[in-house]
Amino acid sequence: MSDSSALSYVHPSPTSPWGTYLSQVDRVLPYLGHLARWSETLKRPKRALIVDVPIEMDNGTIAHYEGYRVQHNMSRGPGKGGVRFHPDVTLEEVMALSAWMTVKCAAVNLPYGGAKGGIRVDPKTLSRNELEKVTRRYTSEIGLIIGPHSDIPAPDVNTNGQIMAWMMDTYSMNTGSTATGVVTGKPIHLGGSLGRVKATGRGVFVTGREAARRMGLDLRGARVAVQGFGNVGSVAAELFAEAGAKVVAVQDHTGTLVNDKGFDMPALMAFSRDQGGIMGFKDGEKVDNDAFWDVKCDILIPAALEGQITAERARKISARLVLEGANGPTVPEADDILAERGVLVVPDVICNAGGVTVSYFEWVQDFSSFFWTEDEINQRLDRIMVGAFDHIWAKGEQHKISLRTATYAVACERILIAREERGLYP
Ligand code: GLU
Repeated sequence: MSDSSALSYVHPSPTSPWGTYLSQVDRVLPYLGHLARWSETLKRPKRALIVDVPIEMDNGTIAHYEGYRVQHNMSRGPGKGGVRFHPDVTLEEVMALSAWMTVKCAAVNLPYGGAKGGIRVDPKTLSRNELEKVTRRYTSEIGLIIGPHSDIPAPDVNTNGQIMAWMMDTYSMNTGSTATGVVTGKPIHLGGSLGRVKATGRGVFVTGREAARRMGLDLRGARVAVQGFGNVGSVAAELFAEAGAKVVAVQDHTGTLVNDKGFDMPALMAFSRDQGGIMGFKDGEKVDNDAFWDVKCDILIPAALEGQITAERARKISARLVLEGANGPTVPEADDILAERGVLVVPDVICNAGGVTVSYFEWVQDFSSFFWTEDEINQRLDRIMVGAFDHIWAKGEQHKISLRTATYAVACERILIAREERGLYP
């Protein structure tokens, strides 16, 4: 029996992203029955590509950035997952993010495996011209392994529709085609889907609504705290506010604001869009970033980066419900503390699956060249998310396990059945 800790190219810790993922897999093994025989496959990415991304900067110097594309598992279909531009991106982080995509796609039963990419760069330091060059060179380098039927990138932290348009164009130029299905999250007139931009936040709201109903938590008047005010956190918070909740604390890269009466969400969103952050918004009191975790709330939405809910923070948060808009925001020890304290955690791999679900709709629409209305998209998204949540909830009740382990049980069973049916080659 091989030892999964023996991958020579990463050195995970118990709280690092890949270490967190490995312990999440270990927790599901007792529920996999005979399929556990195949489980080592979950602990090893199928393929990882590291690329050099050199560009000429506006000032004439040459800069080199490190880029990655990891295909974790493709048993159920082509790889799927976003591309992140961030100065802290590492191979280990991208591996974990790709694995979470495998689990996420299987949890909502999309016909995809999991993949993820990233560039170790701070896009805020680049001009538009430099950003385009980095994107195009990276796309060309990973062009060896991406494609509409093999691996389909999408937006993630610090990437957006414009970056997807450049990626689609670069891949298309290199292949002599117009391959709209090679990426999702594209602008609408380039084969993008209505509803995609808000889909992840909408999915967070839908799973949160379902969880709240089962807990007897009334959304009207519920206090919501959100960390991260990008595409995911702001939209989820907006939808909770529309359902009658009060958004009482918001944290983004510019700082933390609290408002006991609840923020005027359309106003805060418009401000943040115009100013590039929430700081300076007049109807909020600025507090220390650490104080965010002490704010009295019913629903906490970590929608920024990994590893935010540490053991120490898990001991003091007051929320009854945690909705993981981010990927990997809770370390395993914190998961246990939250469970002991009776806090319900809707895990990332179902909570934020709305984005990839509408990515799937986009990909299907691109292939059929027939586009759906926004209502159709939102209704189908709601149906898929509610169906997946129901199924996972039932699994959790059946085995008396956390929603995270229940999601892994449902997803890993699907992945490993596919693995077993396909068989080992040669
Ligand atoms: N980056 C998003 C995620 O983490 C979306 C991925 C996709 O649409 O492929 O789920």
